Amino acid sequence: MKELSGRKLAAEIKESLIKEVENLKSETGAAPHLIVLQYGEDAASKAYASRIEKNCEAIGIEFEYQQLINQPEKFKALLKKANKDNKITSIMVQQPLPAELKDSLEMINPQKDVEGITSASLGKLFVGLETLNPATAEACMEILDYYDIPIKGQRAVVVGRSNIVGKPVSILLQQKHATVTMCHSRTRDLEWELKNADIVVAAVGRAEMIKGEMLDEDSVVIDVGTNFIDGKLLGDVDFASAAEIVKALTPVPGGVGTVTNQVLMRNIVKSFKNLHNIK
Ligand code: NDP
Repeated sequence: MKELSGRKLAAEIKESLIKEVENLKSETGAAPHLIVLQYGEDAASKAYASRIEKNCEAIGIEFEYQQLINQPEKFKALLKKANKDNKITSIMVQQPLPAELKDSLEMINPQKDVEGITSASLGKLFVGLETLNPATAEACMEILDYYDIPIKGQRAVVVGRSNIVGKPVSILLQQKHATVTMCHSRTRDLEWELKNADIVVAAVGRAEMIKGEMLDEDSVVIDVGTNFIDGKLLGDVDFASAAEIVKALTPVPGGVGTVTNQVLMRNIVKSFKNLHNIK
């Protein structure tokens, strides 16, 4: 089994971004600037924001964090201000959001939508136009490309159909001419689908749900899952049993998540370039 580590790829993306940001700063006199807006006190979201801050710092991206509690109207006003503020080139609105703020995701200026979550961004992805793609979906594709995994004509099975991972990765795989099957909680025979896959992308959110015996020996498996169980980070694929069977597999941690972090940084740089009309 070949382990498809994301560490070297992530380091390469990071290195090239450090240089690019340096050049962009001297060219424009400005810097990419991310604002992360959090509503409420979710500890995991806060921890995620501080990890993003560290990644931004390492690359030279300006970072700003605003947290509001019990002020939904002020939160929306803050978002509107960020949409218009020329200094702010990237916006992330953290989830979970309370029901009264769910529509705020759609309020994000699509040019600053570095997570690619607005319907405008996803619509462009759907029709094959250049846009900011959801970082995790793109990270899966980056890993396949980095390790020269053939995609054209291959049977790809995506387990999970969320707007942020499953659906976008299925579109990206189709763009590369894979034959894609989408599986979800109502799929009748997941094991059959998995056994007939050349490429499996697991984006479910259930620790070690996919066992080695469910997979084919010729398959390449991309594990998106990040499940914290008893302080341990586990994927959606049972690494130990899958490693005995499959041809190639991403580890968790050190796989998709590691690359996603840097693809998000690249999206932040892209949105800055788009807003400054730099190719
Ligand atoms: P969601 O909860 O939004 O979606 C989960 C999907 O899994 C749903 O489509 C659901 O089906 C499907 N599902 C649930 N149970 C089963 C089952 N028994 N069999 C088949 N399908 C099932 O999750 P996300 O897409 O947001 O995240 C998925 C995983 O990826 C999580 O572990 C998350 O933490 C991780 N993640 C990792 C990232 C990274 O950078 N590494 C970034 C983003 C997410 P249905 O639609 O029918 O309910």
